[in-house]
Amino acid sequence: MSKSFADTTVLDGLDLDIPRQNVVTVIGPSGSGKSTLLRILDFLEHADSGTVDFGDGLVDLTTTKSADIHKVRSKIGFVFQNYNLFLNKTALQNVTEPLVYSKGIKPDEARKIAIEQLDRVGLADFHDRYPSTLSGGQQQRVSIARAVAMNPELLVLDEPTSALDPEMVNGVLGVIKQLGSEGMTMLMVTHEMRFAYEASNHVVFIEGGHVVEQGDPKRIFEHPQEERTVEFLSSTN
Ligand code: ATP
Ligand code: MG
Repeated sequence: MSKSFADTTVLDGLDLDIPRQNVVTVIGPSGSGKSTLLRILDFLEHADSGTVDFGDGLVDLTTTKSADIHKVRSKIGFVFQNYNLFLNKTALQNVTEPLVYSKGIKPDEARKIAIEQLDRVGLADFHDRYPSTLSGGQQQRVSIARAVAMNPELLVLDEPTSALDPEMVNGVLGVIKQLGSEGMTMLMVTHEMRFAYEASNHVVFIEGGHVVEQGDPKRIFEHPQEERTVEFLSSTN
């Protein structure tokens, strides 16, 4: 995909492959286009050019056809830095309602799925809490439960722990790691290098709108080949 804002090229023919049941983590300097890449996949931002393929045919990322946009969106679950929960709804309602309204699942069945997913992220005792009464880490876990409940083919996470107090980070990282080990396919942006190392199958370093270097975490973090990767990694800790 390619994307410019005015005369700044942010993504310059960036190409990514995300094998099923893999966790692919994108790292790179601030402003290198990581969030833009994810936002384009949700059509929150329009690419200048690009395609996405889930194995059932290319979809043009510049399309305005609602059927194509819906097709891609229905395959992806998004988890954002700031949770994006409905503040006037309880944890359980936040997970249940998208199942009913976007997927057409019957309310009783949706409730069952939502309860299961909230249990899975350690929030069995928090069903009736409103977001304002939950910690950041708990809110983020509701947001993960909501995305996973939709049974997406791909879970996309943009710095899921960057808004959290340090003591909240581990709970959220643990949930993400667990999902990865259960076979959820994920595309994640994180600045937690240690977590990227432990939780990913594949790490992609981007800068200047394209992939500078990619490979398995051990190779990237212990034996980076490109000078820019070495510099970037040494600036992060
Ligand atoms: P960070 O690590 O700080 O989150 P990032 O890699 O996610 O950075 P992006 O948010 O994708 O970076 O931004 C990439 C570049 O595109 C930045 O220079 C940013 O200023 C620019 N940009 C992003 N969105 C817009 C917009 N709507 N209009 C103009 N410029 C934008
Ligand atoms: Mg970003």
